[in-house]
Amino acid sequence: MGLSRILPRSQPLPEPLPAESADEPEVAVPSALAPRLHAVPSSPVAGDPEEHALAKVIAFANQKGGVAKTTTTLNLGVALKEAGKRVLIIDLDPQGNLTMSQGMNPDVIERSMFDVLVHRVPISDVIHTVEVDIAVASIDLAGAELALSALIGRERALEKALIEVRDKYDYILLDTPPSLGLLTINAFVAADGVIVPVQCEYLSLRGLVQLENTLAMVRENLNPAVRVQGIVPTMYDGRTLHAREAIEILQENFGDLLFETRIKKTVRYAEAPVKGSSVLRYDPTGPAAQAYRDLAKEVLDGAQAREHA
Ligand code: ADP
Ligand code: MG
Repeated sequence: MGLSRILPRSQPLPEPLPAESADEPEVAVPSALAPRLHAVPSSPVAGDPEEHALAKVIAFANQKGGVAKTTTTLNLGVALKEAGKRVLIIDLDPQGNLTMSQGMNPDVIERSMFDVLVHRVPISDVIHTVEVDIAVASIDLAGAELALSALIGRERALEKALIEVRDKYDYILLDTPPSLGLLTINAFVAADGVIVPVQCEYLSLRGLVQLENTLAMVRENLNPAVRVQGIVPTMYDGRTLHAREAIEILQENFGDLLFETRIKKTVRYAEAPVKGSSVLRYDPTGPAAQAYRDLAKEVLDGAQAREHA
């Protein structure tokens, strides 16, 4: 059993990256997904004290919508803060769900990540402090891909914007839109690692190949260090055979990259954002909050293991 069970034989080729990558030699895209993921070395940071002072930047990505990218960005962010870390979360999705889930309305926000990316406004100007610090989205972020596409260095706008705050946080978490467009590419270029939330369903697993193809091109052309740091199974319902099989497939294909924490399906995750709250504040002692604390522990343990490696 493997991805062959769920994936078509001919993998779709990735769309070419335009602009500064256009003249680069063509990226060879290996056909099997899993070996590529495992072949990417983890970035060595041990022994470099300056490196430790800088935030670790993690992008939450999956071009499929509704897989819990936003839910995971917020709740993992709040859980990392509970664990004593300085956390900034950034809303890169024009739909502004992350911004809304902290009780703000993207329709009335005046300065947002759009201004940061397109007009080079300092990111500190769009950071609000709620449960964690959050750099907000507004509806005009929908025009950011088009506005950015005309600019030189369009893939590096976010990376540049983060320089100002990288020494002020331990973790910077990037919530991306459900596409592999320029906003998500900006996240991959700025990130040290990518965490992929995956709904425990066959159809959700198929999109991972395309995601990894895009990431491979970013590695080749723009950010050699970025890698998939982990896969988080979300909306898990252990009572169904289908969900258990989806986990098995993930285990076979991704091995150690699969986090042990399974985020179970529960309505708590949908209820909390209505109150402008993380699930850790909405229902602090419930299992939904605990799941993200467990995930935070895995993320922290992983970072520690790499430092001591
Ligand atoms: P994405 O950002 O990938 O589009 P969201 O985080 O917005 O996904 O989640 C999509 C919907 O599913 C939201 O309504 C959210 O509240 C809900 N949701 C997220 N995680 C879970 C879960 N573990 N169980 C049930 N519903 C969830
Ligand atoms: Mg979202």
